[in-house]
Amino acid sequence: MLDVLKIRNDFPILNREVNGKPLVYLDNAATSQTPQQVIDVIVDYYSRYNANIHRGVHALSQEATDMYEQARLKIQAHFNMEKSHEVIFTSGTTHGINLIANGFSSIIKEGDEILVSAMEHHSNIVPWQMLAERTGAVLKVIPMNDEGELLMDEYDQLLSNNTKLVFCNHVSNALGTVNPIAEIIKKAHEVGAAVLVDGAQASPHIKADVQQLDVDFYTVSAHKMCGPTGVGVLYGKDEWLNKLPPYQGGGEMIAEVTFEKTTYADLPHKFEAGTPNICGGIAFGAALDYMNNLGFDEIATYENELLEYATQKLLQIEGLRIYGTAKEKTSVISFNIEGIHPYDIGTILDKLGIAVRTGHHCAQPIMDFYGIPGTVRASFSFYNTKEEVDKLVEGVERARTMLV
Ligand SMILES: *Cc1c(COP(=O)(O)O)cnc(C)c1O
Repeated sequence: MLDVLKIRNDFPILNREVNGKPLVYLDNAATSQTPQQVIDVIVDYYSRYNANIHRGVHALSQEATDMYEQARLKIQAHFNMEKSHEVIFTSGTTHGINLIANGFSSIIKEGDEILVSAMEHHSNIVPWQMLAERTGAVLKVIPMNDEGELLMDEYDQLLSNNTKLVFCNHVSNALGTVNPIAEIIKKAHEVGAAVLVDGAQASPHIKADVQQLDVDFYTVSAHKMCGPTGVGVLYGKDEWLNKLPPYQGGGEMIAEVTFEKTTYADLPHKFEAGTPNICGGIAFGAALDYMNNLGFDEIATYENELLEYATQKLLQIEGLRIYGTAKEKTSVISFNIEGIHPYDIGTILDKLGIAVRTGHHCAQPIMDFYGIPGTVRASFSFYNTKEEVDKLVEGVERARTMLV
C-alpha cells in the first residue's frame, strides 16, 4: 500500500496555490510532477560535476560520463533490455519515432504497407505519413470501436506479406486504453513486419518488458514518469539499430572523419550525435529509482482505485459522457458534458485551482471518430488523492450549473 500523504511531501509543487486555491494537478498524462529526490539530482549535477561526457580526460568529465552511463544501465534494467547499447538517449518520444521513421526511408519501398492504430498521438502518425510520402508506401489504419478498443479482427485482415511496419501506442493518452500490444507484435512478426510501440503514456503506469514483448522499438519520455522534459529513450533491437542509418550527423556519432569519407561509431553512439541532455539522462535514472522504490504494482493498484472512484462519481453528473471505456485502462478520463464546450469547463476548473487538459490531446483522429471538437481530460498519478477527485467532481458540477 502506498502512503500517499507521505509521497505528496516529496513533491514541492503540490504545496502551491493556483488562483488562491490549493493546486489540484490532474494533467499527469501531459507531464508528471518531479519529486525532490530528482530535483536534488539536477541541482547536484550543475553544482558539482557539470561537464561534457565521453570526451574529456579531466575528473569532472569522467564523473559526468560515469553517472550518465549508470543511468543508461538503470534504464536497461527497468525495461529488461538485453544490451545496454540498445538504450538510445533521445529528447523524448517524438524524437525517437522520427529517428526510426527516418531510418526506414531506405528500407521501405513503393507499395509497402504500414499500419497505424486509430488512436495514435500525432507524434506516432505524422512521421509515418512523411515516410509514406517519401517512399510511396501505403498507410492503413487499424480501426477501433466506440469503447476505444482496437478491432483485432480488422487488424488480422489488414496484415499481409506487404505489411512492413506496425505502429501502436501501448496506452492511448486521449482515452487511457491499454492496447493488446503482445498480440499485435506477435501477429505482425508472423508476416515479417517490425513493430514500434509508443510507450510514452504506458511508462508511468506499466513496467514494460521489451524482451518478453519481443517488440522491435519502444519509445518513452522521461517527463511523463517523474523525470525532466527534453530527455527520453528509444529502445531498439540491436539487429535493427545496426541495420538502420544514423539520423543526425555530428560529433560523438563518428568513428573517423575525413573529407572523403566518414565511418560511424558503434551503438549507441551512432544515434547520439552532439552533446546530449546529460543532466536530464542522469535525472531520468533517478526518476526510475524513485518510482521503482514505490513499486509499479503498488502504483497501478492505487491508480486503478482512483480511476474507478472518479469514473463512478463523474458518471453521476447529468449529461456527462466518458470517451474511452475500454476494459483495460490506465487512470485517464476523457469526458464532455452535453451542450458545453470542453474549454469552458477547463477554464472554470482552473479558477478553482484544478489543472486538467482540454482539447484534442494531440489525437485529432480520435475526436473526429467521436464527432467532437475535443474533451476535458483528467489524468491521475499516484500522488493524487480521493479528496482531489471530489474537488474535480464538485468543480465539474459547478461548471455544469453555470454553463448549461
Ligand atoms: C506524450 C505522448 C507523446 C509525445 O511525447 P513527447 O514527450 O512530447 O515527445 C507521444 N505519444 C503518447 C501516447 C504520449 O502520451
